[in-house]
Amino acid sequence: MINRRQFVYAAAGAELFRRSWNLFGAAADKYDLILKGGRVIDPASGLDGIRDVAVSGGRIAAVRPDISEGSLESIDARGKLVVPGLIDIHTHAGRSMEGPGLVLKDGVTGWIDAGSQGADHIQDVVNVAKASPQPGRVLLNIGRAGILSDGDTMDLSRADVGAAREAISKNREFIVGIKARLSQNVAGTNDYEVLRRAQEVAKAFNLPVMIHMGQTYSSIPKLLGLLKRGDIVTHMFAPPPNSIIDDTGHILPEVLAARRRGVWFDVGNGVTGHLRWDMVEAILKQGFRPDTISTDWGTNSPTTGVVDFPNCMSKYFGYGMSVSQAIACATSNAARVFPVFKNRGTFKVGSPADIALLELREGTFEYVDNYTNKITGRQRLFPAGTVLAGRRIQRP
Ligand SMILES: [Zn+2]
Repeated sequence: MINRRQFVYAAAGAELFRRSWNLFGAAADKYDLILKGGRVIDPASGLDGIRDVAVSGGRIAAVRPDISEGSLESIDARGKLVVPGLIDIHTHAGRSMEGPGLVLKDGVTGWIDAGSQGADHIQDVVNVAKASPQPGRVLLNIGRAGILSDGDTMDLSRADVGAAREAISKNREFIVGIKARLSQNVAGTNDYEVLRRAQEVAKAFNLPVMIHMGQTYSSIPKLLGLLKRGDIVTHMFAPPPNSIIDDTGHILPEVLAARRRGVWFDVGNGVTGHLRWDMVEAILKQGFRPDTISTDWGTNSPTTGVVDFPNCMSKYFGYGMSVSQAIACATSNAARVFPVFKNRGTFKVGSPADIALLELREGTFEYVDNYTNKITGRQRLFPAGTVLAGRRIQRP
């Protein structure tokens, strides 16, 4: 028997011994970090169960029940969801230097800034992406002055193919696509020509185009006719004029055809004009689920209906989407849209150790659409921690 003091000394000695072994490269601690006992959901592998996730050298090292080997650090994940780091393909995180750090705390380990700037000021957004702790990339607004309150391309000369090409040439690593905002209050009657020019630029660099749909001058079938495999339609739940359903609530055949040829359909939650519950109900009832869920995030999001990415993911549970389907939309699916996220959005061994901890709470939660209509949900996801490249991000 040893007394308490002897035990403390012995424990301290063991810790010293363990650390010094590590200094000499021995395998006293096999892993850098283990997340213990969470509900691990990895849609890419179809996994949904209680597991430990071990991280080593910034990569996923093992996903198994009860990993017994030691680790330098551990996180008690019991009662939480452990999912691949969230990838938000429609944000405006590039509008301010603090944006990427703010979404990182919500579990977002990869982001796309969707057209905050055009050719004239693209460097501002690219600089934010360059300084971002997590991978961040940029869609170039085809309107050379970026987002304008009186309409990006109301003046068609702002959809300047030459200026856009030059901006991309200078920033090949960070500009990963073109954004064409096509609503009538953005492009007037120019939407079709604006999109045609966006494609002219995109094709020269083999890049995708993301269109901002909803309340356009031209019909959706006409606009979709200009979209190629890999392009993205954001604001898919936007109400008429020119939504993705007809007057009787059926998905337009051109929309189904676009999906078949590899066009992605994205939520782009946002604040005005993009999301209405009756549209969500009609569209999801027909089994036309989003490929990706995204926020259209801005620094004001905590005070709007967006709140954070996990909140935006929770809005569809009441319309028949499961938790794992919503997580797929924010991880494995989103990772397929842009090559920068290759090998992310999954817990495959060897992939970057980007992890979001989420809490799935039961209760009564109010969700608001872009038209102040409210629905009540019984479940909501809350951010509960982030690991980026194997390192734990401290929440304030
Ligand atoms: Zn947006």
